[in-house]
Amino acid sequence: GTKFDRRDGKLILGKEGAHSMARIVHAGGDATGSVVASALAEALTAGGRVELHENEFVLDLLMDAGRCVGALSLGAEGELTISLARAVVLACGGAGQVYSHTTNPLVATGDGHAMAYRAGAVLRDMEFMQFHPTAFYCQENPTLLLTEALRGEGAYLLDDAGERFMVGSHPMAELAPRDVVVRHMQRVFERDKTDHVWLDARHLDGGYLRQRFPTVHTGLQKRGFDLCTQLIPVAPASHYYLGGALTDTWGRTTVPGLYACGETSSVGIHGANRLASNSLLEGLVFGERTVRELNRYLSVADPAVRKVKLDLSDELREGNDAAVVAESRKRLAGVMTELCGIVRCRDGIQKARDELGALRASLAAPGLSVAELELFNLLSVAEHIVATALLREESRGVHLRSDYPEMNDAQWRRHSLVRRDPATGAPVLETTALVT
Ligand SMILES: Cc1cc2nc3c(=O)[nH]c(=O)nc-3n(C[C@H](O)[C@H](O)[C@H](O)COP(=O)(O)OP(=O)(O)OC[C@H]3O[C@@H](n4cnc5c(N)ncnc54)[C@H](O)[C@@H]3O)c2cc1C
Repeated sequence: GTKFDRRDGKLILGKEGAHSMARIVHAGGDATGSVVASALAEALTAGGRVELHENEFVLDLLMDAGRCVGALSLGAEGELTISLARAVVLACGGAGQVYSHTTNPLVATGDGHAMAYRAGAVLRDMEFMQFHPTAFYCQENPTLLLTEALRGEGAYLLDDAGERFMVGSHPMAELAPRDVVVRHMQRVFERDKTDHVWLDARHLDGGYLRQRFPTVHTGLQKRGFDLCTQLIPVAPASHYYLGGALTDTWGRTTVPGLYACGETSSVGIHGANRLASNSLLEGLVFGERTVRELNRYLSVADPAVRKVKLDLSDELREGNDAAVVAESRKRLAGVMTELCGIVRCRDGIQKARDELGALRASLAAPGLSVAELELFNLLSVAEHIVATALLREESRGVHLRSDYPEMNDAQWRRHSLVRRDPATGAPVLETTALVT
């Protein structure tokens, strides 16, 4: 039902990073995500076959004899609901909030990743967080994304001296793959002792920019910048998480009855560096395949369980003070940004591991508040990022190690895997060869 932008009846196609041709549809100028989400929400409610529970936070999966049999959720009034099911699909999005500067919404706290891990599912490629080169440089959370389509329309990236530093650095200049642009930005930061560069669209037609990028244009205006006449400060921000619950191409995780799709999953199609706009395509293709597989599974699966054991401890969980939770979330994102962010090295990663350990040790077990549960999910994801980033002694795609700057195919044409040891509860790290 999404109405994509057309000219003379034909879809208008845009070009983004590392694309060799214009192939990206858009809607409402640069409001594609919002238009797509509204169309999906309308379709979901119009059919009358889907029961929708909004503002309900899923806090964990229910397990019975190694099979996922439902989920436990927390409602807006603090009430707990047990939903028993023959199959559960995790589609909780990404985990950009692990970092301080992110384009991801506040809810992108890796809940699906953390729940899958607790349920015993294998997580894959957790070290691969993609940073988008051109997020608006500011302290806001989340920050405003300055879409790659701007560079697709001809906007430049400039350093403080006004030089287009991507020209001569890569044949595609500003439209090089995201990891390449970020790597070169990082060099400029080190050379010029700065933490941002400039997006320049001043040479493009102002009327066209306002019509094609209304969201960016008004977003910048609200922040005191004019896209058409001013240089815009930009810096990389965590944007897309490649790590996720390992699935096959039918959405099946390694836990019977548990499925995953979208950013929570790792189906493997993006390699080590997702191309612009391939995420929504992934959702479209593998979301539909997951539904087809569910139809098959439900015709052969055991009936839903009628009772499920909850592992509740006798201790009264008082949880942590709200201020401590907020402060801890900031501290976690700060540690990850500083020590295990865009460019990593062994010393930094080890320090991050120690800092996360100290943070975990300083917290009481979480009480029943969304903020606390999100903090513990973020902590779980951050610990996996750190462990796998330390393991992968090479640079590949979005994983950059200053102490191992080259790609090492001989040793590392492999995925990293993490799972929870059911006996000890400790993480088990393994690697597996790439399937090509
Ligand atoms: C600013 C921005 C622009 C982007 N632009 C593009 C683009 O142009 N093209 C492209 O391909 N990709 C783009 N992406 C990436 C793409 O939007 C995401 O990868 C994609 O939306 C992920 O879809 P998803 O269904 O996995 O998760 P989401 O769309 O993130 O949905 C996850 C849902 O799960 C809910 N949820 C999370 N945790 C819980 C919980 N514990 N309990 C209950 N509900 C929960 C969330 O509230 C949310 O509604 C963009 C991302 C951002 C941030």
